[in-house]
Amino acid sequence: SLTIGIVGLPNVGKSTLFNALTKNDVLAANYPFATIEPNVGVVGVPDPRLQKLAEIFGSQKILPATVDFVDIAGIVRGASEGEGLGNKFLANIRESDAICQVIRAFKDENVVHVDGKVSPKDDIETINTELILADLQSVEKAIPRLTKESRLQKEKVAVLAAVEEAKGILESGQTLFSAGITKGTERGDLLHELHLLTTKPFLYVFNVDEDELVDEDFKNEQRALVAPAEAIFLNAKIESELIELDDEEALELLQSMGQDEPGLATLGRVGFDTLGLQTYLTAGPKETRAWTIKKGATAPEAAGVIHTDFQKGFIKAEVISFDDLVATGSVAEARAAGKARMEGKEYVMADGDVVEFRFNV
Ligand code: GDP
Repeated sequence: SLTIGIVGLPNVGKSTLFNALTKNDVLAANYPFATIEPNVGVVGVPDPRLQKLAEIFGSQKILPATVDFVDIAGIVRGASEGEGLGNKFLANIRESDAICQVIRAFKDENVVHVDGKVSPKDDIETINTELILADLQSVEKAIPRLTKESRLQKEKVAVLAAVEEAKGILESGQTLFSAGITKGTERGDLLHELHLLTTKPFLYVFNVDEDELVDEDFKNEQRALVAPAEAIFLNAKIESELIELDDEEALELLQSMGQDEPGLATLGRVGFDTLGLQTYLTAGPKETRAWTIKKGATAPEAAGVIHTDFQKGFIKAEVISFDDLVATGSVAEARAAGKARMEGKEYVMADGDVVEFRFNV
C-alpha cells in the first residue's frame, strides 16, 4: 500500500506525533489481524457516510479506509551530502509515495531549536534545500547519459528536455512539486526513471501552540508558505493526550479548543487525498467498509482490492450512489426507484459508490 514519509528537523515534535499515530487504535479496533510494523503509524480516514450506511444496513462494524505514515529519521543540514544518516534518509524518502514535513511553530524555551529560533519559513527552506540538492545530484548525473542515449533513442529526447527543465527549476530553489511537476503529469512521468524526491506530493503539519490553532491570520500565513501543498495545524502533545481519552472526553477537549476533529483525523483525510486515493463503499449486516482505490480505477480493479478472485471472475457491479441510497432508504427501494445501476468492466468508479460485485468463482 502507499505510504507517507514523515520528515522534519530535530525537536519539532515528530516522535510525539508519531507516537500518537501508532497508538491511535484504528487498526487494533477494526483490523485485529493486521500486522502492525513498529515504524508505521496507521490512521483512519474519517468518513461520516460510513456511520449512515451502517445504520441503514444494521452493520455490526465500521471499517474506515486507512493511511500509513512512516517515520523517517535523520534530516539535518547536509543530509544530501550524506551527513548524519543522510543516505539512509534519502533512500527512505525515495520509497515513500508522499512527503509529510513536520514544522515547529510552538514556542517553548525548554525545547531547544536546532537553529536557535522558531521560524517555520526557515525550517521549510532548510528541508526543501536538502531535497532539492539531492534531486540536483540525480539530474546532473543523468544529463550526460541521456545526452548520449538521445542520439540513438528518439524517445529519450523528450526525457532529456524534461530533465533539463527540471534542473532549471531546482537551481532556482523550487521543488518540482511546487512547480506542478508530479507523478501523473506529462512532465512528471518523463522524469520517472530518475526517482526524484521533489516530484512527490508534499503536505505540511505545523506543530503549533494552542492559541495558534484558532488564529486564522497566522494559519493563512503558513498556508501561503507551502501552497500548493496542504497545511494541517495541530498540537502534537495534545494529540498524544487525546488518544488516551474516551470519545466524549476527547470531543469536550477539542471543543474547548475550538476544534471539531482531532488533528490526526485531519491528517488521515488530507494524507489520503494527497496520495491521490479514493474510496468506494460496501455494506451489509456484518460490516460497512470503505475500500481504497486509485482515482480512475475501473470496477474490476476495485473488486480486486477485496480479493483477486473477484477481479478475475468479475461479471458486473451493482452500484448505488450513497446519496440515492440515503434518499431511498434501502437497497430494495433504490432498485425499485431505478437507482441501482448494473455496471460492466469499463466502468470507472465514482466517489461514494456503494457496490455489490457479481463474479464467477
Ligand atoms: P522530534 O525530535 O522532532 O522527534 O521531537 P520530539 O517529539 O521528541 O519533541 C521534542 C520535544 O518537544 C519534547 O520534549 C516534546 O515533549 C516537545 N514537544 C513536542 N510537541 C510539542 C508541542 O506541541 N508543544 C510543546 N510545548 N512541546 C512539544
